[in-house]
Amino acid sequence: MSAAIIDGKAFAATVREKVAVHVARLKQDHGIIPGLAVVLVGEDPASQVYVRNKGKQTLEVGMNSYEHKLDVSTSQEALLALIDQLNNDPAVHGILCQLPLPDHINEDLVINSIAPHKDVDGFHISNVGLLGTGQKSMVPCTPLGCLMMLRDHYEKKGESLSGKNAVVIGRSNIVGKPMANLLLKDSCTVTIAHSRTKEIEALCRGADIVVAAVGRAEMVTGDWIADGATVIDVGINRIEALEKGLKEDGSVKMKLVGDVDFASASQKAGAITPVPGGVGPMTIACLLANTVTACCRDNGLEEPEGLTA
Ligand code: NDP
Repeated sequence: MSAAIIDGKAFAATVREKVAVHVARLKQDHGIIPGLAVVLVGEDPASQVYVRNKGKQTLEVGMNSYEHKLDVSTSQEALLALIDQLNNDPAVHGILCQLPLPDHINEDLVINSIAPHKDVDGFHISNVGLLGTGQKSMVPCTPLGCLMMLRDHYEKKGESLSGKNAVVIGRSNIVGKPMANLLLKDSCTVTIAHSRTKEIEALCRGADIVVAAVGRAEMVTGDWIADGATVIDVGINRIEALEKGLKEDGSVKMKLVGDVDFASASQKAGAITPVPGGVGPMTIACLLANTVTACCRDNGLEEPEGLTA
């Protein structure tokens, strides 16, 4: 069997389109432009790329983008003061503080200082609690993207997530735990696996859905996957691509792979997300979706359909 590819790049484009349509409607009917503020402390190269992409895509869907780039030596007090200012700024509907923060800053304190209704990353303890109790919340972007793709995949087959056996590998606060809560909310039977889980392969073999969010290159192989199962690969791992030969400077070329061994898993799965081009593009698309949702909620307006959990 060769799996159908769940195309996250194409799906993310449809999400951005829906966001853009809603943003245009907010402008036309209510004179409101959703605004997203992104705060970056320091010069971590990967974070700089993410922040640049977020800003670019925010503008492309017609929203306002506010970037705050702070020096690595910025004090915790100064950062908290900026967040307080953004919390009170009516033009800002979403606030994202790019992680990781420098060591001298308490990440939890900063995240929990963001007004929960502007917390478009969904990491504030209030949003975590709301999601955990099945209530309306801001939902973390990466698991929201996975949920959207899973719902769409089963809807197209005339099915729903209800009653499916799902295994989520990974229990982080940003992916594994919220993913499990979202699947539970959609009435899956959910098992969360982690580094101490016994017989993880057998657990996965019993699953209709496997979500891998581990950070270990190609760990999940085809023999872990039940025939016809749906596989969502969250992992982003950079490994040497020896087959591509050497760069001009003699160093080995690199490539991105997921936590799933695509070659073998795609022989067993019914559907699978590739890396790159699967979950990755959905994350920023969902950030934009969360910002428009936050803006609608803030203004007491109807939320766009299909853009949240
Ligand atoms: P974390 O490192 O925070 O969590 C990894 C989880 O995997 C932990 O719960 C850990 O268990 C578990 N784990 C580690 N080794 C094993 C093992 N051998 N068997 C079973 N479980 C194991 O990672 P994140 O959740 O932040 O990210 C996971 C992956 O997703 C990474 O590759 C990351 O780059 C990627 N990612 C991709 C995003 C996207 O936009 N596509 C966004 C965010 C993350 P334990 O708790 O016991 O240590």
